[in-house]
Amino acid sequence: MYRSHTCGELREEHIENNITLSGWVHKTRDKGFVVWIDLRDRFGITQLIFDEERTSKELLEQARSLGREFVIQIKGTVLERASKNANIPTGNIEVLVQELTILNESKTPPFTIENDTDGGEDIRMKYRYLDIRRNIVKNNLIFRSKVSMEVRKYLSDGGFIEVETPYLIKSTPEGARDFVVPSRMNEGQFYALPQSPQTFKQLLMVGGMDKYFQIVKCFRDEDLRADRQPEFTQIDCEMAFVEQEDILNAFEGLTKHLLKEIKGIDITSFPRMTYDNAMAKYGNDKPDIRFGMEFGELNAVAQHKEFNVFNTAELVVGIAIPGAATYTRKEIDKLIDWVRRPQVGAKGMVYVKCNEDGTFKSSVDKFYDQEDLANWAKVTGAKAGDLICVLSGDTNATRAQLSALRMEMAERLDLRKPEEFAPLWVIDFPLLELDEETGNYHAMHHPFTSPKPGQLELLDTNPGAVKANAYDLVLNGNEIGGGSIRIHDKETQATMFKHLGFTPEEAKEQFGFLMDAFQYGAPPHGGIAFGLDRLVSILGGQETIRDFIAFPKNNSGRDVMIDAPAPIDDEQLKELRLQLNLES
Ligand code: ASP
Repeated sequence: MYRSHTCGELREEHIENNITLSGWVHKTRDKGFVVWIDLRDRFGITQLIFDEERTSKELLEQARSLGREFVIQIKGTVLERASKNANIPTGNIEVLVQELTILNESKTPPFTIENDTDGGEDIRMKYRYLDIRRNIVKNNLIFRSKVSMEVRKYLSDGGFIEVETPYLIKSTPEGARDFVVPSRMNEGQFYALPQSPQTFKQLLMVGGMDKYFQIVKCFRDEDLRADRQPEFTQIDCEMAFVEQEDILNAFEGLTKHLLKEIKGIDITSFPRMTYDNAMAKYGNDKPDIRFGMEFGELNAVAQHKEFNVFNTAELVVGIAIPGAATYTRKEIDKLIDWVRRPQVGAKGMVYVKCNEDGTFKSSVDKFYDQEDLANWAKVTGAKAGDLICVLSGDTNATRAQLSALRMEMAERLDLRKPEEFAPLWVIDFPLLELDEETGNYHAMHHPFTSPKPGQLELLDTNPGAVKANAYDLVLNGNEIGGGSIRIHDKETQATMFKHLGFTPEEAKEQFGFLMDAFQYGAPPHGGIAFGLDRLVSILGGQETIRDFIAFPKNNSGRDVMIDAPAPIDDEQLKELRLQLNLES
């Protein structure tokens, strides 16, 4: 028996017990006449004591010979500690060791296994198994497990069935590239790893499984953006005989359950906002609604004077930054530089200081009088002491720029509180999105999303205006889930494919199986998928999803611990009948 207790378990009630512990040598303190060792396992730390009075010379020497991260087993007696440590649960006791066995030695770890480690990100990724020994990473993984368990509990109590769908499939178009897997037994043919189980979950609905869920890995070969992983986990769900309202209600329930069980927070408000409204008010389809600074559109109150920049703009729009009227000229110039950075892309910024005495001072005083500026303040909701920042230009670009400024200011003013949670449904997304480069439309969500009732005809005349039965769940400015009511008849699906630029042959070739299935009594259905990694990191009050993944990839999509991706040997290539042509 390696242990009678864990290193997090012993308390005063165990005093005088003879026990056995196993764990890692966390820290040794040698005072000459006494040696203390902190023994660590997943469950905690227990202090071991060896001293000249009670410990044999050999044992004391053995204790002194232990290096950091050695794996040992000890037998000993639990004693009350002379000086107690209220910071750890086992802090009232220590164990006087009678017997020590080294189970395994350890090289000196390349960084300290402490909350405040001396190891940089790269080295910790390379030795991820050591990083996992640190409380921070360990606790994140435990936290993730708890969230997953609560998801499973809630959904399974709600009658959802977990079904596994295959990983070796044919491409599902969800907007990214597929990772492909060559098939040894089928020469020249490839599987694709699923970008999501989308078509399979729809086929499960045709199969009558009704409420389905799966906590499932998805794979997308995207150009990596910060904090994206090529493989990630979704809570994937689908239901039959549902309308949008049913889905929103069901998953509002899941979100409330998680916030209650995991964070102890009762969410009372679960607002809904149309996509159009979100874009107009926040310039963003995933607005953080925990703070104000809503957009005020100023065209009507700013385009009547000689200021040409505004007169020629499609949109003039501003936000009121609370308390920022005290900004110095230098600080405002810096802010203007910030919005002009290429990542934001504004050409310039007009500002209005709303002075405490009710007067206004602006960068365009030459063109606008106090009454004009008072109107701007009214539209943007600015109060005395605020700074109004105004951008102008093409509607979409200007909204995106102002949204970036709004988020930046919220960070600077500390308005994005990690322990405050504000969920929001964004609904009525456009069905199609124009690809500016190619001039083609593609599905904003995916090609299986149904248009709103009665809008199918619009597809021919004004495709960009067609709204979808699609919704996103937003939490604190992050999209944590998205889904839609699906098309469930063959004709509509064929029309959709046609509008997405598929010939009937291409549609049949790629999605024949789905169109076939729709001919055998497909029920109306819809669903949603949550990004588990992101959800867990937000609930955990942290920004990076990598911290909540046991073995994440780095920003170039590499696993630096196992060194993947990697070449394969010629033998393997031959067997797969693959030839590398690295020149082209
Ligand atoms: N398959 C979709 C996604 O991965 C989610 C859904 O429509 O249910 O985003």
